[in-house]
Amino acid sequence: MLDLDFPLNHTRRSDLILYLSVNFDHLSRAGKDYPWPRPLRCPRCGGVRLWGHGYVERFFDGQADALLIKRWRCPDCRAVHTMRPATHWRGFWASWPLIFRVLLEKAAGGKWSEAMSRQRQQYWWRGYHIQSRIWGTPVGLWQLLLSGRIVATHSLLYREIRVVYGSAHRIFAVTAASQPP
Ligand SMILES: [Zn+2]
Repeated sequence: MLDLDFPLNHTRRSDLILYLSVNFDHLSRAGKDYPWPRPLRCPRCGGVRLWGHGYVERFFDGQADALLIKRWRCPDCRAVHTMRPATHWRGFWASWPLIFRVLLEKAAGGKWSEAMSRQRQQYWWRGYHIQSRIWGTPVGLWQLLLSGRIVATHSLLYREIRVVYGSAHRIFAVTAASQPP
């Protein structure tokens, strides 16, 4: 089982992932009644008319069933924005702190964790090597993380998390299509 819950290049270049704090237990119980906050503005064009655009199913480790994740559509730029727990990088079922810990351990010469499949860990490790070498000279794990990179992704376009709002707003970061390397 790999982590991808959608094809890597399925997302249109105009679409964004909006990261925010999510209570998994509440979301699991509430389904479509979960109180997703409506973004004040479209993080792509700044438009103020974001409309609900249904839900998508997404899988996360520790949840028996797929969870319903809210989407918003901007009628001004026509982008569809999908919300996402800030604990989980785009495309991954495992939380990013867990993935990062596995990668740190491996980079330090350690063994693969016994707690999860080696296939998953190797997938993350290959992603790290892709991101590490995107600009030529290899870049370390911490530098990638602190620069907002989705450290374990294999995607060359959807590889960054950018802060768009201050901490006063619950939605604070997005993943958009980046310039190809
Ligand atoms: Zn827009």
